[in-house]
Amino acid sequence: MNREACAELDRQDPLAPWRDRFEVPEGVVYLDGNSLGALPKATSTQLARVLRDEWGTGLIRSWDAAHWIDAPQRVGGKIARLIGAEADEVVAADSTSVNLFKLLAAALRLRPERPVILTEATNFPTDRYIAEGLVDLLGGTHELRLVDRDDLTQALDDGTAVLALTHVDYASAAVHDMPALTEAAHRCGALALWDLSHSAGAVPVDLNGSQADLAVGCGYKYLNGGPGAPAYLYVARRWQDALRSPLSGWMGHADPFAFEARYRPAPGISRWLAGTPSILAMAALEVGVDIWLQVDQQAARHKSQALGDLFIQLLDSLIGLDLEIVSPRQGDRRGSHVSVRHPQASSVMETLNREGVIGDFRPPDVMRFGFAALYTRYVDIWDAASRLAQILHRRTEAIRTRAVS
Ligand SMILES: *Cc1c(COP(=O)(O)O)cnc(C)c1O
Repeated sequence: MNREACAELDRQDPLAPWRDRFEVPEGVVYLDGNSLGALPKATSTQLARVLRDEWGTGLIRSWDAAHWIDAPQRVGGKIARLIGAEADEVVAADSTSVNLFKLLAAALRLRPERPVILTEATNFPTDRYIAEGLVDLLGGTHELRLVDRDDLTQALDDGTAVLALTHVDYASAAVHDMPALTEAAHRCGALALWDLSHSAGAVPVDLNGSQADLAVGCGYKYLNGGPGAPAYLYVARRWQDALRSPLSGWMGHADPFAFEARYRPAPGISRWLAGTPSILAMAALEVGVDIWLQVDQQAARHKSQALGDLFIQLLDSLIGLDLEIVSPRQGDRRGSHVSVRHPQASSVMETLNREGVIGDFRPPDVMRFGFAALYTRYVDIWDAASRLAQILHRRTEAIRTRAVS
């Protein structure tokens, strides 16, 4: 493999034209779309239009005239198509953390005789913290059980109310078997809640096909919705009447503009709205989602897997540099990023960032490199691996020089 061979792969890549639809700064190899997706060029135009016409001119009339009022359901319905759900099972709202709180609380209320939220000990921090806070709020009646990845199925029992997992692990990119774990949860009478933050826009997801009960996910990563974009929430149709949101805000009321004395939950997915959504943020998210709706998800998956395979292959040739691949080597068991362990991961990543290769660092010793199929090129993988090799060689050289002097 050499750089020219990578350039040839780019020329043959059916998704290559999409890169032009994003702002990717000159001289930057951006491998952090798994943390903050790049800016679609169309977002600037769309936001300028929403500001000028809808807010500036339309003012309050835009709630109806510009369909602001339906934005959470409309954008949710579009996201549904990316995650194997029906349009009326998804709503775009709040943050992933808040949506997790709403759904976990609802799941516990549905299963009062079952005290346990079961999750993985290494699940993303907010997923654990939110569950911890909820258990604390309930005053000692419930328990958050944290177990190792391999012990999840065994740990399920008739005390489990909900199995809450992140589909693609934020640290290692390992992918859970969603249908199998959902079925295991159902066999013992628990609900299955999936966090899709690192999945939507990275790996194909089939919530309905997996019989998943509940899900949440993030709008600003692979979906390119912008920093702090609204998140989304899924409730399978079969649970929509039985589950209630603990955040019984007016936007989730059956008749928000009747200003009734008491709360009555809206029918369907709308009851999961709490307060007024950020229309500007929603407009940006919709641009990102609209792009994804035009992309063949299998082709995107194929490409991000190939990018990851190439990166692993290039790193494998760097022997004696203390690098350890943390992510699964098998492409179909890995999401859209590759994590690498190194004793000085933090300062190596700092140097990489300074030299224009942007990935990120996760304590204690992991560097993450994310491959967004719509704007990452094969030559970017080559350049990132070469730069990493140079930095590590320089360090080894410096240590050796110090040792002999
Ligand atoms: C990114 C991410 C979140 C983000 O939560 P916010 O509420 O948006 O800060 C949650 N869960 C997982 C697994 C994530 O990767």
